[in-house]
Amino acid sequence: MNRAAQGFQDLYGSPPEGVWAAPGRVNLIGEHTDYNDGFALPFALPQRTEVAAARRTDRELRLHSADVPSGVVTLDLTDLTPGGTPRGPAGWTAYPAGVAWALLEAGLPVGGADLYVRSDVPTGAGLSSSAALEVATAMALTELYGIPLPGAELATLARRAENAYVGVPCGVMDQMASACSSAGHALHLDTRTLEQRHIPFDCAASGLRLLVIDTRVKHDLADGAYAARRSSCHRAAAALGLPALRDLAYADLPEALSRLTDPIGRRRVRHIVTENERVLRVEAELRAGRLRAAGPLLTEGHASLRDDYEVSCPELDLAVATANAAGAYGARMTGGGFGGSALALIDAEAEAEVTRAVEGAFAAAGFTAPHVTRAVPAAGAARIL
Ligand code: ADP
Ligand code: MG
Repeated sequence: MNRAAQGFQDLYGSPPEGVWAAPGRVNLIGEHTDYNDGFALPFALPQRTEVAAARRTDRELRLHSADVPSGVVTLDLTDLTPGGTPRGPAGWTAYPAGVAWALLEAGLPVGGADLYVRSDVPTGAGLSSSAALEVATAMALTELYGIPLPGAELATLARRAENAYVGVPCGVMDQMASACSSAGHALHLDTRTLEQRHIPFDCAASGLRLLVIDTRVKHDLADGAYAARRSSCHRAAAALGLPALRDLAYADLPEALSRLTDPIGRRRVRHIVTENERVLRVEAELRAGRLRAAGPLLTEGHASLRDDYEVSCPELDLAVATANAAGAYGARMTGGGFGGSALALIDAEAEAEVTRAVEGAFAAAGFTAPHVTRAVPAAGAARIL
């Protein structure tokens, strides 16, 4: 039996009505663009969060995660309070509770449910375990209650849960990647219109491999640095008379920079505008089947995040520099930064060598040993049982 279904049965004493699974994601390129109405190019990972669920006849939401030693938490659907749950592992129930709250807020008639969560998406590694949990929960509740929603709507409601209920001011990329990705493809996402394009991305067919290097440095997206980046961007857009930095064309960047007086704001703007351009260029290389040519754009993106956006950290910089020195076509931090994971595009045969080089460099620097895994673009969220 499926492990989530088995866990549900053992815990609640009867089988679930279904099991829904939503993946973590890696962002190939397009970082910090999603709160600037810009572009991103994420793909879903094979690692997923499963939610086994069954309806209840009352208005209770019973929650358990096999990954958190918290027992069963019982909440009343009629009494969900945004911001009322502390963040972090102890406050994990805010994510599924926030989803139920967002669905009810949107007028969707979901009712009580028992949920059992298990996941192989590492938390806080920049691979978006939070979005995986939200999207799997949203899909479970809506399908249980006979109101299935398209992926983009699930993602929008999941994001609202994270923003308004959990209190993390994230953009919509993570939830869209988890809800809408398709196997063997990267997802070109316009975060203003939620328009999606599925771009073939088959590394193996080109003799390539993508490595995810989890630095084991836990990021905290909710901390002040993320909020500070957001407000810098919004201030700069306002100073330029634009609705969002998305509306600043790459060709107009030099002129716009000359009009901004704040040197920090200028660097933030330069990152966002060049990053949107890099998304389009990487997409073009993938479409042309020139996967190797995307490599230098990844490394350029990393330099921009490190120097202009200032969201990298020594471990991420070391992972990128070492992978590149060991022969990667390109590498970059992925996710919000300040820790989490880096991505490296390498020849398939170079996997052992690059992995050894990165592990050796971390040991020499006295850093915690990184986790190096392969990333293969996988399918988005779905009912699996
Ligand atoms: P990321 O999304 O990059 O993994 P976040 O800090 O955004 O990191 O989200 C991690 C939080 O999401 C955890 O601290 C926990 O509260 C919640 N979470 C994620 N996956 C699970 C899970 N399987 N069970 C319980 N809580 C989870
Ligand atoms: Mg997250």
